[in-house]
Amino acid sequence: AKSRGLSQYCFYQPEMAERTAKKMRLEQMLRQAMEKNELLLHYQPQICARTQALVGAEVLVRWQPSGQPMVSPAQFIPLAEETGLIIPIGEWIFRRACEQYVEWRARGLHDMLLSVNVSPHQIEEPDFVERFVAIIEETGIDASNLVLEITESLAIREGEDAILKLKALKQRGLHISMDDFGTGYSSLGVLKQYQVDSLKIAQPFIRDLSDDQEQRTIVNAILAMAASMKLKVIAEGVETSEQYEYLHLQGCDWIQGYYFSRPLAAEDFKLFAGMGA
Ligand code: C2E
Ligand code: CA
Ligand code: CA
Repeated sequence: AKSRGLSQYCFYQPEMAERTAKKMRLEQMLRQAMEKNELLLHYQPQICARTQALVGAEVLVRWQPSGQPMVSPAQFIPLAEETGLIIPIGEWIFRRACEQYVEWRARGLHDMLLSVNVSPHQIEEPDFVERFVAIIEETGIDASNLVLEITESLAIREGEDAILKLKALKQRGLHISMDDFGTGYSSLGVLKQYQVDSLKIAQPFIRDLSDDQEQRTIVNAILAMAASMKLKVIAEGVETSEQYEYLHLQGCDWIQGYYFSRPLAAEDFKLFAGMGA
């Protein structure tokens, strides 16, 4: 206790106190965000590279505190993870996404894949599988329409426990996708262990695709490896026709990015998918 006190004293800096106060305010706001209905979901279309048909959507959470500017998930998801709020928030996201999908199917949406981001903290919860299965059953969604996007950090943090949990969900029909592939520590072994069905090539590899030979070499290698492992590949952050054409030519399966569509509010996604008003 004594040494902790000392280190706190040594680290004390006015600007740090300010940052902490700001963070605590944000945390306080985030705690109430769900009750206040300030969280909402956007849906970013995923397009088949070959046919340009809509094949899926990634669920992306948005936070609009009343009377304040929108807070980016890149800012509040890490805070939610740090504070444990990611557990109730992540559960709300999954439930809301399933409800929305079931509603859309009733309005004539064709079969597609709905991808939901799950943080390692959620998977770490002892009753993660039971809670997700309960939501699937309560909402009546067909589990084979669901994809869980996991990150490479899970592999380092969790190991065996996470593998077993994801396996249990896979047995129910869910698919697993490795998000931001290539940025972390994934190896072929990790992809096999986690029995992933698809991988998403991270945006930095796509960005310079049109003029950077090195990026092309990396993307080609990922596509060749994925093909040999019979994994589907989604390219993220595709913004230009050049990027799309290149990926299509190289056999990338699905495309996600501003070139086809930004993440859309539910109403706009309905129009995009041709569901009518
Ligand atoms: P991510 O999972 O890698 O999501 C893709 C991010 O790229 C999204 O940012 C999306 O809006 C953005 N994006 C899509 N297409 C393009 C493009 O063509 N160009 C560019 N420049 N960006 C594009 P967003 O929505 O701000 O989300 C940021 C991150 O926050 C996500 O990265 C994910 O890690 C996390 N996140 C978002 N929603 C959730 C969620 O529901 N649960 C969890 N656990 N994390 C989430
Ligand atoms: Ca993702
Ligand atoms: Ca990603």
